[in-house]
Amino acid sequence: MILVPKTLKQFLEEMSNVTVVMIGGPGSGKSTYSKYLTGHFDIPHVYTGDMMRDLQKKDPEVAKIMDRGDLVPIKKVMSALRSRLAKDDTKNGYILDGFPRNTEQLNAMREEEISYNYVVYLNVSEKEVIKRLTSRGRKDDKPEIIKNRLKVYEKETGPVVKEFRKSPRRFIEIKAEGKDEKSIAADIIREIEKRG
Ligand code: ADP
Repeated sequence: MILVPKTLKQFLEEMSNVTVVMIGGPGSGKSTYSKYLTGHFDIPHVYTGDMMRDLQKKDPEVAKIMDRGDLVPIKKVMSALRSRLAKDDTKNGYILDGFPRNTEQLNAMREEEISYNYVVYLNVSEKEVIKRLTSRGRKDDKPEIIKNRLKVYEKETGPVVKEFRKSPRRFIEIKAEGKDEKSIAADIIREIEKRG
């Protein structure tokens, strides 16, 4: 990689950007709250789940993996993500939803200097998650697959949350249950704006 020195203008622009990583288990509401944030801050929703669902339609290997509730190989995820982040609309910030999902992806994120200034961790009890997923009706929301996605989340994404937690200035933990969607979204926005 070639390192080009940043101009002061570029530097200041980056400082004022809102770049958020949304993290949380399946059914924690990542996409729902991402949409509130994209609306509020007027930045795009960079959503690997949707990217992978697009890919699933044309790539039988990906389809098989997703039908089991497992993670798509990193090469395919990075390639989709790279092209998305190369688009002009991400230069003023973005909401990264569904990435990084394991330590390998966290390392790739660091290597490729995919920046973020806040991590929003949506904490939801397992009981509530199962209740939400069983009523959602998406193709991969069948009991056995849900169980596997929860297992994958705990094993793969758990260590990523632990790592992000080490930067308390950026780490925002939100209890994402027990009150209505709008108030939870407002809590997230307040926390982000408080940190400036
Ligand atoms: P949920 O958070 O409810 O599991 P997503 O829409 O974020 O749903 O993801 C759906 C599926 O897409 C995942 O189960 C996984 O197979 C695939 N996927 C999404 N993001 C990634 C990623 N960063 N790495 C690997 N696989 C991914």
